[in-house]
Amino acid sequence: MAANEADVVVAGGGMGGLTAACSAQEAGARTMLLEKAPRIGGSAAASGGTIWCATDLEDWLSVQPGGDPALGRALIASFFEGIPWLRRQGVDLEERSVDTPYRFRRVIYACQPDAATAMSALADRFTAIGGTIITGTGLRDLLLDDRGTISGVRALGPAGFTTVTAPAVILATGGFQGSPELRARYLGRWADQMVLRANTYSTGDGFQAALRAGAATAGPFSRFYGHMVPAPPAKVGLHNFAAVKPDFSEYAVFVNLHGERFDDEFLGDEVTVHAAAQQDQALVFLVYDEAIRAAYTAPRSDGRDARADRLQHIRAAGGEILEAPALPALAHDMATRWGVARDRLLATLGQYNAAARAGDGAALPIPKSGGLLPIDTPPFYALRCLPGITFTYGGARVNEQAQVLDTSGRPIPGLYAAGADVGGIYTRGYTGGLVLGLAFGRIAGHAAASV
Ligand SMILES: Cc1cc2nc3c(=O)[nH]c(=O)nc-3n(C[C@H](O)[C@H](O)[C@H](O)COP(=O)(O)OP(=O)(O)OC[C@H]3O[C@@H](n4cnc5c(N)ncnc54)[C@H](O)[C@@H]3O)c2cc1C
Repeated sequence: MAANEADVVVAGGGMGGLTAACSAQEAGARTMLLEKAPRIGGSAAASGGTIWCATDLEDWLSVQPGGDPALGRALIASFFEGIPWLRRQGVDLEERSVDTPYRFRRVIYACQPDAATAMSALADRFTAIGGTIITGTGLRDLLLDDRGTISGVRALGPAGFTTVTAPAVILATGGFQGSPELRARYLGRWADQMVLRANTYSTGDGFQAALRAGAATAGPFSRFYGHMVPAPPAKVGLHNFAAVKPDFSEYAVFVNLHGERFDDEFLGDEVTVHAAAQQDQALVFLVYDEAIRAAYTAPRSDGRDARADRLQHIRAAGGEILEAPALPALAHDMATRWGVARDRLLATLGQYNAAARAGDGAALPIPKSGGLLPIDTPPFYALRCLPGITFTYGGARVNEQAQVLDTSGRPIPGLYAAGADVGGIYTRGYTGGLVLGLAFGRIAGHAAASV
């Protein structure tokens, strides 16, 4: 293949891009993968490597209210077909029983020995069947002919700008969470304050190139996949995101700087992060007591509890946890150290405890759907948090063939998306990240190869 010409160009070498590239090359297209970072893998290589999804549409829609059933069906079907396909590419997958509770039945496949090895296996397979990988070279723009059909890409590499002609392009650059400016523009005023818990290269290049080519957007833009993280001075990064996740928060109380609750904590911190990003300075505080600490954060003797040692990890990372013998003393410390409105906080906690004792979460101004425990066993604790973002839910609008649609709903000929560059799949909850790359990468790769 000439260095500046291909049948399919894939932008991005993470889960979506590598899957799409292998699928397109396997289907007979001369495929070139451009990766902006010095090496392939993206967030996928740093991930936990558990590939999972809901097993049926009804379950999926229960966490994605108002989701597009056609996209949900395509996601689930391509996930199930994708597992044996991944194994055929040389990825070692272990089917896991699900011993951590979730909101519906899940099937989980864990990359063996880890996700980085799985991404290397995909890259090796792609080059073994004739594909080309160019690292250190990022998509800058899409090229279109006079009829608005894709004709190639413009990319920036170590030697400057280069043009690759191709009738089909697959965007798999991993979303726009790496750009504080785009986060603030699309996710809300304080979203630039969020902590990035993903690779640093996914700064919205695919999404912005699609918009310039006339793509429609698909939200929700106020939602994203993320988790709470301890706020600075805590040092968090790819090495410890999972360990410092305060995933006992369903049983505790989140308040903002004004001392007010802002969401139903029982939905899980992967959902409360959305509302947290809208709070003043995006700063939020998790308040809990000794009973919650002992029941939900202490290591279990059999070592099987995923939440084990959370607080130890948070402290080791430099996270700030206040401890006090009584709630008024805790509120005083939170006010003087962190600027939380003390009187309002005490009123919020008083109201919360009354609802907990009455077992009536619906009576709260912001109802709580479960996990309602009175905060009344000393000592009392507070953890200062920021929302962390892993990938954005908003992006380019696609149909179930992974074709990017323009603002009148017509496919932009030759343009496809996979992974987090796809918008409009998830509406609220989280039903897997790698699966978005696997499922839509396979669909996009096959479709692009036939252009
Ligand atoms: C710590 C952590 C743990 C996780 N654990 C899990 C898990 O266990 N299970 C799960 O399902 N999900 C998990 N995820 C989420 C999962 O990793 C992502 O959802 C998934 O990797 C998204 O795939 P993607 O291809 O869209 O993006 P990525 O895998 O991030 O790949 C995007 C690639 O595009 C490249 N790129 C960016 N801009 C350009 C450009 N202009 N041109 C060319 N290339 C570009 C980036 O460098 C990157 O390599 C985890 C994420 C993190 C950070």
